[in-house]
Amino acid sequence: MDNNATTKVADEVISEMTPYMGQFYGNPSSMHTFGGQVGKKLFEARDRAASLLGCGPEEIVFTSCGTESDNTAIRGVLAMAGNKRKIITTRVEHPAVLGTCRELEQHGYNIVETGVDKLGRLDINELSDRIDDDTALISVMYANNETGVIFPIEQIAAIAKSRGVIFHTDAVQAVGKVTINLAESNIDILSLSGHKLHAPKGVGAMYVRKGTRLAPFMLGGHQESGKRAGTENVAGIIALGMACKLAAERMDEENIKLAGLRDRLESSILKSCPDSIVNGDTKNRLSNTTNISFEYIEGEAILLMLDKFGICASSGSACASGSLEPSHVLRAMGVPFTAAHGSIRFSLSRYNTETEVDFVAEKMPEIVNKLRALSPFV
Ligand code: PLP
Repeated sequence: MDNNATTKVADEVISEMTPYMGQFYGNPSSMHTFGGQVGKKLFEARDRAASLLGCGPEEIVFTSCGTESDNTAIRGVLAMAGNKRKIITTRVEHPAVLGTCRELEQHGYNIVETGVDKLGRLDINELSDRIDDDTALISVMYANNETGVIFPIEQIAAIAKSRGVIFHTDAVQAVGKVTINLAESNIDILSLSGHKLHAPKGVGAMYVRKGTRLAPFMLGGHQESGKRAGTENVAGIIALGMACKLAAERMDEENIKLAGLRDRLESSILKSCPDSIVNGDTKNRLSNTTNISFEYIEGEAILLMLDKFGICASSGSACASGSLEPSHVLRAMGVPFTAAHGSIRFSLSRYNTETEVDFVAEKMPEIVNKLRALSPFV
């Protein structure tokens, strides 16, 4: 139930990548046939990723993870932006984007973090109003990892284009769950990560629209058309290609199944646990995610009790410097302190079953009642 954190590597993906860790260990850049055959397989992976996203294979750049893709996008655009010093982003981005922007702020860049409303929806007018001649980049995530809320990315990309600003989206949680057709989009750069869509950890990718001026983050050899130096993670890239192929084939069907399981879990919990509430815009979110606040109790205590039953989930608070800090996403949404503290994210995948969902739904009221009986706030 914690698939926004990471996913199981699909069996089909393991079968596809395994020969490239043993038998076919050649370097794809080599001139000889042994390496060349690996290069051909890399091209197939690039083609598979491009097919899922509706772009050209030459617009895919493989990286080591979503974080690297985000860092490259932001730093790479700024490096080519001349005197422009402003980046517009949101308060609810993943730390891969927010951390990078805040570090850049220390170096004199002007970072604007736009807010969200209580359902986690972006204020497009605010974002649009903040664009000026100094703006080098707008970076807005496709879907939020904590709440699953999906942003109107095409609308924002169109605004960015009309104002001549490069637009990047961190689509780490969206790729494989949302249909994306870059051929008909104004997105300039998109980040994705293998381990969120049933490929292994340690591989990611970026889409970089042909003609987008982006300085490389990694310098060295000529791999990835000079956009990302370093001998490729061959097995990981082949795995990501296969994961993209599976996603393209199954996404529509899986989304129906996932939304069904998610809604079954959510409605059962809301019914059996009083004073619980869903965080985020339920009309516009990923099919696999629900984020629920339970008043008067700590999310981390719920997690520990779930863990005793072998159930994995995430909480919206993190133990920071000895005190429980509610998540920056829930804080930005103005979720009251007590509700933010008691929030749990359940995120499903194609491998979850109805039996599992029903097991969690059965355990949750038991856990909540037990913790509330101990709570000084009830
Ligand atoms: N962006 C979002 C929205 C994420 O959810 C994550 C991972 O949780 C990342 C970026 C970072 O991806 P990676 O773990 O591949 O570095």
